[in-house]
Amino acid sequence: MSAACIFCKIIKGDIPSFKLFESDKVFAFLDIQPLSRGHALVIPKYHGAKLTDIPDEDLAEVLPVAKKIAQVTGAEDFNILQNNGRIAHQVVDHVHFHMIPKPNQTEGLGIEWPAQATDMDKLKALFEELKAKM
Ligand code: 5GP
Ligand code: ZN
Repeated sequence: MSAACIFCKIIKGDIPSFKLFESDKVFAFLDIQPLSRGHALVIPKYHGAKLTDIPDEDLAEVLPVAKKIAQVTGAEDFNILQNNGRIAHQVVDHVHFHMIPKPNQTEGLGIEWPAQATDMDKLKALFEELKAKM
């Protein structure tokens, strides 16, 4: 827990939320500025800013809960989004997974996808570098 963290305060109940789910390790609630109907946040109770700060066991339940919320919203199309760092659009420094229904072109998440040119030699060199560290 971090005393200054807005999501830790939501977990504690010091800030109210529309709570959809709570367990020992996970908390889920409606986003206060939704991109679409049903936009929800699923968070580990463990406080950490980035995904890499959270122990594996505190993450295990997150996707099943996001999946359940996607199901109960009835969303046929949706995005799961998890931002890490300011330049990657993270505003709240407590790890959170967005479940954002995508009902049509204009509502929900809009994504830019600036695919870069590459080639098989470059991909293979990168693959070998990363694979060696896995
Ligand atoms: P980020 O850009 O950090 O990935 O997203 C943070 C999200 O938290 C935003 O979608 C924002 O609407 C949501 N949010 C920020 N403060 C609150 C709050 O006090 N209550 C709720 N329910 N959502 C919040
Ligand atoms: Zn926190």
